[in-house]
Amino acid sequence: MNIPEWLVVAPAAVFGLAIGSFLNLVAIRVPKGESVISPPSRCMLCGHRLGAFDLIPVFGYLLLGGRCRYCRGRISLAYPAGELITAAAFAVTAWRVGWTPELPAGLLLASVLIAAAQTDLRTMLIPDRIVAFALGAGLAARIVSHPLPWWEYALGSVLGPESC
Ligand SMILES: [Zn+2]
Repeated sequence: MNIPEWLVVAPAAVFGLAIGSFLNLVAIRVPKGESVISPPSRCMLCGHRLGAFDLIPVFGYLLLGGRCRYCRGRISLAYPAGELITAAAFAVTAWRVGWTPELPAGLLLASVLIAAAQTDLRTMLIPDRIVAFALGAGLAARIVSHPLPWWEYALGSVLGPESC
């Protein structure tokens, strides 16, 4: 059975908003050597712990008029921008790849590239933790799903994609 395109693209976009929110946090914490799991998100200006409502991607920012609910400080446009860019990247990936085993690998690649671009823009660094995660997760994705013979990936990683 063929799944309609929008049934893949729309959920991917919504998922992208949530992942984009997480990638914003990754881009701020990883260059500082901080954990991406704890502590919970806080306002960068007043340090107030953020509630579920504050953390709704894009819509939370719009509903709050781009200001922190607690200190009324201006929230950087980089947050909703990161969420929207991730949603767009996920939607395009889902549209191009469809509901196939390649989709998780594509979304993973998009996420890593967005996190790396953000840390690069913020700090002019691409932290080793992001690169190491990308290598490990990329390898795991290839073990789970490999539409081409495995040696093509090995060759491709050495010689570049044009060789395959
Ligand atoms: Zn605040």
